[in-house]
Amino acid sequence: MTAPVTLTLLGTGDSKGVPRFWCACAVCTEARQTGINRRRRTATLLRVGPQTALLDAGPDTHAALAGLDRPLVPDMVLLSHAHNDHVLGLGDLLDYVRYAGGTLPVYAPASVIPALRERFGYAFRVRSPVQVWPEEGVMLGGVQIRAFAVPHGANGQSHAFRLDGRGWAAAVVTDAIDVPDEVAARWLVNLDLLVLGTSFADESGQPHASRSVYDVREGLALPWARSARRVVLSHLSHGVDVRGTALLPVGWRYAHDGLCLPLP
Ligand SMILES: [Zn+2]
Ligand SMILES: [Zn+2]
Repeated sequence: MTAPVTLTLLGTGDSKGVPRFWCACAVCTEARQTGINRRRRTATLLRVGPQTALLDAGPDTHAALAGLDRPLVPDMVLLSHAHNDHVLGLGDLLDYVRYAGGTLPVYAPASVIPALRERFGYAFRVRSPVQVWPEEGVMLGGVQIRAFAVPHGANGQSHAFRLDGRGWAAAVVTDAIDVPDEVAARWLVNLDLLVLGTSFADESGQPHASRSVYDVREGLALPWARSARRVVLSHLSHGVDVRGTALLPVGWRYAHDGLCLPLP
């Protein structure tokens, strides 16, 4: 018998969260009132039976974990890139190690670690709390979790997560644009589930060189996204109203905080 596997999207917002605290647009107003569009910053919880891995740890990670119905310490944390909206929760996770005396393996691609050391210098004083994510990935239960580099447009480089279980595969690609065909051909094939970052509905009015994440319009046209069995659009800004699903094809949906996706 294999352990049940789920991916829970703890935070489905872009880097500014929804509502943006300074914004009175219709989506931000809805997020304040009924809250369908209320979104925390990125953090995703992979559960394989009783084991858990946190994929990215945005600034709202503490609120997301503290809001669960029982205590949870992830068995490992995996970081994609050193942007605030993906790593600022690391401080709270390292405090757990300090104050509860626990252990917490944290992995990041080698190229990401210098920026983490800069941001969390105090935590690196004795030894690095972050290990290099090995090329062959790390295992959680029977699930292999690997990182692969993806272009992040004007913001440089990010990484995405590829999960391979027994007879299924999934990918979490939150911060990417212009993914080259050869990267997609290697990493984004045979997907039962794709979590894809599409921060805005349509950014075609913006200079392409200033962009850093796909928009919904581009996401819908990506051949590798169209070939996935299920697609969940996440990393959503206040430019996307998740109540407007009319345009999404069968098998596609918008994410919301707390959405739990069973695998395969
Ligand atoms: Zn991001
Ligand atoms: Zn980013």
